[in-house]
Amino acid sequence: MTDRYAVIGNPVAHSKSPQIHAVFAGLTLQDMRYEAILAPLDGFADAVRIFIAAGGRGMNVTVPFKLEAYALAATCSPRARAAKAVNTLIFSPAGIHGDNTDGLGLVADLTRNLGFRLAGRSILLLGAGGAARGVLLPVLEEKPAALTLANRTAAKALALGEEFAPLAGSCAFAASGFAELAGRQFDLVINATAASLADEALALPTGLYAPDSLAYDMVYGRETPFLAAARAQGAARMADGLGMLVEQAAESFFLWRGVRPETATVLAQLRKA
Ligand code: NDP
Repeated sequence: MTDRYAVIGNPVAHSKSPQIHAVFAGLTLQDMRYEAILAPLDGFADAVRIFIAAGGRGMNVTVPFKLEAYALAATCSPRARAAKAVNTLIFSPAGIHGDNTDGLGLVADLTRNLGFRLAGRSILLLGAGGAARGVLLPVLEEKPAALTLANRTAAKALALGEEFAPLAGSCAFAASGFAELAGRQFDLVINATAASLADEALALPTGLYAPDSLAYDMVYGRETPFLAAARAQGAARMADGLGMLVEQAAESFFLWRGVRPETATVLAQLRKA
C-alpha cells in the first residue's frame, strides 16, 4: 500500500513541499504519496487526527501550526524541545513524535551547498521568532567561536538568549537589539526575521560584514532588501533560503523513510522555475 504524507498549514497552496518530496520519492524509489492539507486555523489537531485515521505516516507542519504541533506531539527530539516548535511529525502505533529539521536544513545548506564552515566563525543571527528559535541549537552544535542573536525588539532577543545560554558550550553567545551591533563585524549574517516577506529593510548599523563574509536570508526566490544592503556593504557572498527549504525537507524525508535523498536535482529544478 502506498504510504501517505502531507504538509499541513494555512495557507498551504504556495508550498513547494509536495513537489520536493515527489522528486525525493522518485530518486529513492519510495512508494509514497505526499499532498498539501489546508487546516482551518482552529482545526489543526483534528486535521492531523483525520489524516492519521486515514493511514497517514507523517506530516510537515508549516505556518502557523509549528507551536501547536509541538504541543500535540507525545514525544519530541531534543532539538524540537529546544525550539519549542515542530515542523515534522512521525506517526506510529507508539503515538505522535515531533522533530524540527529547520536548523539541520540551514546547517546543511551552509556547509554542504555553500561550502561555509561554521566552526570557529563569528555569526550574527537576526530575529527572535520561530525560525530563529528553530535554528539556534543546530547552529550552536557546529561550534562557532561566537554567536550573537539580535532582534528589533531587544527584549525578545534577551529572553531567547537567556533560554539558550546553557546550550552554548564554549561559544561566546550574546543577545541584543540592533543598535548594539554598531562597530562589530561578522563572518556570517543570517536573516531569520520576517522583514523580507514584506520587502522591508532592517534598521541595522553599517559595517557588519567582515572580509569574505556571507549574508544569508531565509526568505527565498528574490534579492531581498537585506541581501541588497549586504551586497552594497561589501558582503563577499549572498544566499537565499531555497537551499534551506530543500535540505530541511530532505531531513524530514530521512526521518520518515530512512534514506537520505540527493538534493541537488530538486534544488536546480526549483532555481530554474
Ligand atoms: P515570526 O513571525 O515568528 O518572526 C518574526 C521575526 O521577524 C521577529 O523577530 C520580528 O521582530 C522580526 N521582524 C518582522 N518584521 C521586521 C522588520 N520590518 N524589521 C525587523 N524585524 C522584523 O516568523 P518566523 O520566525 O517563523 O519566520 C521568519 C522568516 O524565516 C520568514 O520570512 C520565513 O519565511 C522564513 N523561514 C524560511 C525557512 C526556509 O526553509 N527557508 C524556514 C522557516 C522560516 P520583532 O520581535 O521586533 O517583531
